[in-house]
Amino acid sequence: MKVIEHLYIHVPFCPRVCPYCAFYVVPADRRKSGPLVEALLAELRFRERASEIRPRTIYLGGGTPSALSTGDLARLIGGLGDRAGGAVEFTIEVNPTTLSPEKAGLLRSLGVNRASLGAQSFDVGALATLGRQHGPERIRRTFEILRGAGFGNIGVDLIHGVPGQAEDSWWETLDEALGLHPEHLSAYGLTYEEDTPFFDRLAAGEWVRDEALEIRLFLGTRRILEGAGYVPYEVSNFALPGFESEHNLAYWRGRDYLGLGPSAVSTIGGRRWRTAADLGQYLAAADSGEWPEEEVEYLDEDLRRRERMMFGLRTREGVDGAGFEEELAGLREAGYADLSGGRWRLTAEGLLRADAVGALFARG
Ligand code: SF4
Repeated sequence: MKVIEHLYIHVPFCPRVCPYCAFYVVPADRRKSGPLVEALLAELRFRERASEIRPRTIYLGGGTPSALSTGDLARLIGGLGDRAGGAVEFTIEVNPTTLSPEKAGLLRSLGVNRASLGAQSFDVGALATLGRQHGPERIRRTFEILRGAGFGNIGVDLIHGVPGQAEDSWWETLDEALGLHPEHLSAYGLTYEEDTPFFDRLAAGEWVRDEALEIRLFLGTRRILEGAGYVPYEVSNFALPGFESEHNLAYWRGRDYLGLGPSAVSTIGGRRWRTAADLGQYLAAADSGEWPEEEVEYLDEDLRRRERMMFGLRTREGVDGAGFEEELAGLREAGYADLSGGRWRLTAEGLLRADAVGALFARG
């Protein structure tokens, strides 16, 4: 039986849906939280018939898993049994509006040892544009709660390039985040995903992207975080040495993973699927035992190698590049990739165009 070492669990509830978000989320509904937890555990038992699930990493994401009640979180994590305690990295995504000291303490006692805090910004105007319900004070308070509960590995997630945000205000946000001394920082450039209100506002011309500014923010962020001792181990991810997220690295290394929950993607043994992004169907599956799948794909070795190139080039560990010598030579000539110690990695110029570079390795 295939052994699954990486487990993702999707909790689709959010107190309010942010206007830039493209994940499958629905407004939080207390009456459905208990049934969701039972359905997640039922899906786990179902998947266990085909694979041995012995995770080194668990990622409880969403959505806003920290918005589940303390009782529901205890039932969910308790239901993972020995798998929770056996994971070397067990992350929960935390929204600054949803964490009490009691909940944080319970999470630690159940084996959760890493928190990813969705701060997004310390600028009040940017937070309002992003539709977030918290202010900077709440971020600091939640960070303190996590530390107080014994979390020794905390990531802070930030977004730059928010419409209307002055450049200086982003550097201040970065300073504020560094002032918390997190072990991990993610700094994402805002993306305008289709079917979101943000996409519509950009398309309507209400906002205009400033590419020169986006480049300055990207390169400046990298320089500042590196100067502060954070290793840029992926395009948008930075960690103090030893605190790189093993779960995320598993995706970028092309490892197998199981995703539980509505809209969660899994890749196991060359088969990839997405569980239907529909909470009603998902809850019904707990009774019927028929887990609705969509976007089923079969990956042959060529496709998997191509994916490892696309993602691996974005990471600091890089790729060996075997079989793609021609493409890589072209990238080196353009100044977008470099070879050192037998590994290929994108240069700063290449990182700026990481998506376009990745597309070169797509199967034609
Ligand atoms: S809190 Fe996160 S997952 Fe929820 S709607 Fe906002 S961006 Fe999406």
